[in-house]
Amino acid sequence: MSSTSNIPANTPHILVLGMGGTIAGLALNPEQTPMQYQAGQVGIEALLGQVQSAIPQGIALVSRQLANIDSRNLAEANLTDLGIAVREALMDDSVKGLVITHGTDTIEETGIFLQVTCGKLAQTQSKRVILTGAMLPSNAPGADGPSNLLDALRWASTSIENCPGGIFAVMGGKVCMAMDLAKRHARALNAPIQDSPNSPIRLVKPSWLSGVKAVQAAWNEDLPIPQAGEWPWIEILTSHAGARPETVVQWLKSDVQGLIVAGSGQGGIHDAWVKPLDQAMAQGIALVRTTRTGAGATLQNIPEVDSIGCCASGSFTAPRARIALQLALNAAKQANLVGKPLTWQDFFARIADLPEVW
Ligand code: ASP
Repeated sequence: MSSTSNIPANTPHILVLGMGGTIAGLALNPEQTPMQYQAGQVGIEALLGQVQSAIPQGIALVSRQLANIDSRNLAEANLTDLGIAVREALMDDSVKGLVITHGTDTIEETGIFLQVTCGKLAQTQSKRVILTGAMLPSNAPGADGPSNLLDALRWASTSIENCPGGIFAVMGGKVCMAMDLAKRHARALNAPIQDSPNSPIRLVKPSWLSGVKAVQAAWNEDLPIPQAGEWPWIEILTSHAGARPETVVQWLKSDVQGLIVAGSGQGGIHDAWVKPLDQAMAQGIALVRTTRTGAGATLQNIPEVDSIGCCASGSFTAPRARIALQLALNAAKQANLVGKPLTWQDFFARIADLPEVW
């Protein structure tokens, strides 16, 4: 980890945390094959250097390289480091806002992680934390990283009428709450933030802002950040035609602590999996049911009555449900250590009940 600053101590500034991704990627042959590249090659200082001349006057920046990885390799320890760095910065009076450059493959996981562990703190400290990234490597013709980075810096640093502190994402000219990120296209420049429900950054919709405020009103208390070695082991299984019981049975002999089943349609689970999943729950493995369709909420007891203890994911996709379950299991463990008899289902319901922002 490195940190750079050439400003006097205590100068008000925006903290820019580099995590890697395509925004920091390099193509070997950018003119001919721009999409054949390696993510996480360029340091955060160099990325800021590329946009230096366009940074609005009066914004002091401090950068810190937390990781420089392809986010498909994101590890839970990376999230722990990031969460701790964000919480520290939110408590630091000289930090006025944060920008995080991140790979788009798993920005969805990081978005929900930051909302659940740092969202309340960002709101009470009135600071905006902005995730951004890019779909084209930094040396590709027409690279989208510089404009996304500049937009993110503006969003973190300027006052935006009626927009409170919180955890947001800015990409492709759009803004959304970071918990609403979901990469739904392999190549499109707006892949992580889809068009319809989200606010363009230059014309923030009042309906979107009231959605943000509804989420913030519903989110009362951040959950603890798991220590690097303490993240529960959770796997995602996708139900499909021709599913076999063995796919679930093999987990019964493992130390897995939870399963997310991405079911078909409304979160339906293949009959071949029902018995082994009941067995898994009887062994204490946590179970969350979601949909593999990519959109729409998964509701409790729809289309059938859920087995006792199984939670429906609400609007969460499988990757988000996985992080939510990890944080819920960890929070229940911490609560039990101090004598509070709360279950993972109590914490999971709090997270999954957050309103959708349209
Ligand atoms: N594979 C890259 C990453 O997630 C993709 C991107 O950043 O767009 O790091």
